[in-house]
Amino acid sequence: EAIYGIERWGKGLFEVLENGNIGLITQHGETTTTTDLTSILHSLEERGIASPILLRIANNLQSQIDKINNGFQTAIKELNYKNSYRGVFPVKVNQQAHVIEKIVEYGAPHNFGLEVGSKPELIIALGQRLATESLLICNGIKDSEFISLALLSRKLGFNTVLVLESVSELELVLKESKRIGIRPALGIRIKLNNRITGNWALSSGDRSAFGLSAPDVLHVIERLKEEEFLDCLLLQHFHLGSQVPDILDVRRSTAEACRFFVELRKEGAPLKYIDLGGGLGIDYTGEHKSTENSINYTTTEYCNNIVEAVKNTMDDAGEDHPIIVTESGRATVAYSSMLLFNILDVTHYEDRETIEIGNDDLRSLRDMRDVESYLTPTRLQECLNDVTFYRDEVRRNFGRGEIGLRDLVKAEKLYLHLVSRMRKVAQGDEWVSDDVKSALESSADIYHANFSLFQSLPDVWAIDQLHPIIPIQRLNEEPTRRAILSDITCDSDGKVDQFVLADGISNSLPVHELSEGEHYHLAVFFVGAYQETLGDLHNLFGDTNVATIEIQPDGDVNLIHEVEGDTIAEVLRYVEYDPLALSNSFKKMVEEAVSKKRLTAGERKTIMTAFKESLNGYTYFEH
Ligand code: PLP
Repeated sequence: EAIYGIERWGKGLFEVLENGNIGLITQHGETTTTTDLTSILHSLEERGIASPILLRIANNLQSQIDKINNGFQTAIKELNYKNSYRGVFPVKVNQQAHVIEKIVEYGAPHNFGLEVGSKPELIIALGQRLATESLLICNGIKDSEFISLALLSRKLGFNTVLVLESVSELELVLKESKRIGIRPALGIRIKLNNRITGNWALSSGDRSAFGLSAPDVLHVIERLKEEEFLDCLLLQHFHLGSQVPDILDVRRSTAEACRFFVELRKEGAPLKYIDLGGGLGIDYTGEHKSTENSINYTTTEYCNNIVEAVKNTMDDAGEDHPIIVTESGRATVAYSSMLLFNILDVTHYEDRETIEIGNDDLRSLRDMRDVESYLTPTRLQECLNDVTFYRDEVRRNFGRGEIGLRDLVKAEKLYLHLVSRMRKVAQGDEWVSDDVKSALESSADIYHANFSLFQSLPDVWAIDQLHPIIPIQRLNEEPTRRAILSDITCDSDGKVDQFVLADGISNSLPVHELSEGEHYHLAVFFVGAYQETLGDLHNLFGDTNVATIEIQPDGDVNLIHEVEGDTIAEVLRYVEYDPLALSNSFKKMVEEAVSKKRLTAGERKTIMTAFKESLNGYTYFEH
């Protein structure tokens, strides 16, 4: 179990139970409950909710909302900050109806609001009963329809703020506002010079596509003055980019944003809110350092740094403290979901039998066999080079027609046998270079898994995002195999070959040898942010089954919501097929076959039933 580094990235959310299964830890006031993930999975499967399943744990969503809000409250109190915090959830990070409903419910005691970046997201937000003090922040490019809806929503009591993203948007807002006769609450998105590191570096700095440059900001102020709308400018916004790895970037950018804030107030803008956007990251690897998949700070540090940086700049300038707003999406939802899937099959890259090579065998085969005589930790690289050379020589001989299939098979088997011997030597106590280890691991087994990378983990495919992935059972047994994961699509990109382990990132995952017919499940953690709507229908694998559970203080697990995954008929409709027309066309062909006596009437019934059952079935492998 220690090999996976669960205690490092698990952050008190997971632990290994005595029976070797993963336990989910939930906090209920002073009490802590641990629930067996495998038994949750079995009870879902008994209800007919099959793998792959996206499992949402409502408790983790609530605890993150509380953590972020309480983090700011505590910082405000401790640092004697003279105003409050008012967070918003950016809908784009997870738009799923049930997630948004729960965020609104759990966020209400904290006046947690919503941020939207498009008309559909605005409509989602307007369908929610937000707490009276909550903000509804509108970012993104807005047309007059978006603007008028946002303006009118203020009449219903929504605290809707239109954030100006460009100079031309200002003119449109002024026009709509005068036409409808509603004065807006305005925000202005500024572009900072400070650039962050990490995957979203391009969202920051003066070449960022978003926000207004200093000259544009001044132009907006002038225009607002001219039109007598400057009193409407209440919020200043910026967004550094997601998953900011380094706390110093948060601090520097906050200080830079505060300087703009002070100057805008001097220009007469009655700014009330400073909105610092998203960026609060997740430590996916548990390394606690400034890298693309980790962060070098905690939520508490993040809150303290922001509150302190705003306070200091405002105090230095003699300005009143504004309400602090952040738009934490990833940190709010990532922890609340995990993907559970089963292993369908295994391709072993190892030959466990010793291959007898005699003196009559080919010279390359004999040389390869002899490598075993100098297989020691210090000579591993040499051994690997040699076996690869001899194996390739046999392959070349086969290609030229000089040897037959049986010799080729001997070479392939001997190669696998020797590489797995080398892997064992590399796992010993003696030092072996990372290059050799990784070359040996790259010949790991392939575990074929029942999920689609493109549908369920698009960021793993697109930007090499790392998520902790582990088996959820048998963690009290030593995992004797190393594997990469291959998904169910027919795409060579559909694989996972980077894994978070206790001693760093590895290109293979320690897994257990599977017995015949065993149901072996893996979980991918922290997939609640961005993955669901970014996913696509590659090979027409649709949405997975989704189950939301709430764990009670006594350990009871309530299934509070379920969404059945796409059926084949549904995904076919997405790509403009009419399942009924397909079924009719198929039926016609079957009927023709019956009339030509190629099918019996009974076979017709069987084939039509199979076709219809498939249409209404899950797109993934079904047991
Ligand atoms: N606010 C804006 C304007 C964004 O563009 C984003 C996403 O990039 C967010 C907030 C959410 O960022 P994060 O998920 O890092 O909290």
